[in-house]
Amino acid sequence: MQALTWHGEQDVRVSEVPKPEIVNPNDAIIEITATAICGSDLHLYNGYMPSMREGDIIGHEPMGEVVEVGDEVETLEVGDRVVVPFTISCGSCWFCGSDMYSLCDNSNPNAEIARKVMGHSPAALFGYSHMLGGYAGGQAEYLRIPYADVGPVTVDSGLPDEQVLFLSDVFPTGYMAAENADIEENDTVAVWGCGAVGQFAIQSAWMLGAERVIAIDRIPERLEMAREHGDAETIDFEEDDVYDRLMEMTGDRGPDRCIDAVGTEAHGTGLVGFADQAKQEMHLQEDRPHVLRQAIKCCRKGGTLSVPGVYLGRSDNLPFGPVMNKSLTVKTGQTHVQRYLDPLLEKIEEGEIDPSFVISHQASLEDGPEMYETFNEKEDECIKTVLTP
Ligand code: NAD
Ligand code: ZN
Repeated sequence: MQALTWHGEQDVRVSEVPKPEIVNPNDAIIEITATAICGSDLHLYNGYMPSMREGDIIGHEPMGEVVEVGDEVETLEVGDRVVVPFTISCGSCWFCGSDMYSLCDNSNPNAEIARKVMGHSPAALFGYSHMLGGYAGGQAEYLRIPYADVGPVTVDSGLPDEQVLFLSDVFPTGYMAAENADIEENDTVAVWGCGAVGQFAIQSAWMLGAERVIAIDRIPERLEMAREHGDAETIDFEEDDVYDRLMEMTGDRGPDRCIDAVGTEAHGTGLVGFADQAKQEMHLQEDRPHVLRQAIKCCRKGGTLSVPGVYLGRSDNLPFGPVMNKSLTVKTGQTHVQRYLDPLLEKIEEGEIDPSFVISHQASLEDGPEMYETFNEKEDECIKTVLTP
């Protein structure tokens, strides 16, 4: 079958690879009908993520049709149409039982590597390095889904792929980011980053009762989407000083809730992934502007900082002093996608939201390498790409 494979920094290729097979009795195989490229894929693309190997199949936002199930799979049948969460979770450990699926204790066969770096291992993810499980990803024609009874959500309402695909990651991620922000009535919510995650965080902030949403980015079409579709006020960080502007807009108090939907590759910061120690040291020395630092500085005293943006390793010269002295609450994490599948699917089915608004590009799997480049460079007004194998 064809798949997109990783071959080093900014080198993604279309490769012929073996079709996946059932390995464990709780596996299922799906034939992929749509699969998206995520901002998280750019961390791999740019070589920030350690423990990638040449030829790894990437991608973690897939959906498709079940073509084979293992003997112990109970909830899926051949022919079912499913969206697959990017988090792989066993469903039976203490964390899964506590609805914290992205912290599953059992799904990462390479937990020892993660433990060395983090002290504990989070859940495995599709197509996201050997440290996080080494599972083949979903930018391919077929995908093996471990713990098939726990992850995939069946969609039988006839909604097109474009409307349900983002349940795999970016819609729940934006939603959990807004939930983690502890939004209360009359709150002003500031969202750094107007990529797909930021756009869904904006939508979700309204759903959770925000009074005002302010979105920050520098890319015109993304700011425009935040304004036109997201009803947000916007700040272009290349035109305005973000702190000054936010203080002006909030009567010097600062936004009550701040969401960092940018993560490790914040524009203007240089590299901060721990894959490249030298560049990281450089970053630490130069004290460049940084979204986390900026959000901590801007957030009102006693406010909440929610961080869906992905950070790797010792990512930043994080000013913890202000976090303590301003009594900030910080919440972060990979999304517990399984927790949100049913309620968010219901919102889509009831017409409360149509997630396809973020799609800027649709292309074939063969065009994948070109689309990675376009998305990475933020060219051609690219916001979110859906690939169809
Ligand atoms: P994206 O690359 O499309 O968007 C990032 C946006 O941030 C861009 O529009 C960019 O212009 C903007 N940006 C860069 N520097 C900025 C700055 N200094 N201030 C304000 N905006 C700035 O990515 P995405 O798909 O929207 O993902 C965003 C982040 O969320 C990534 O770090 C990704 O890895 C992460 N993510 C996390 C989870 C999770 O489970 N927590 C899931 C999916 C994605
Ligand atoms: Zn993703």
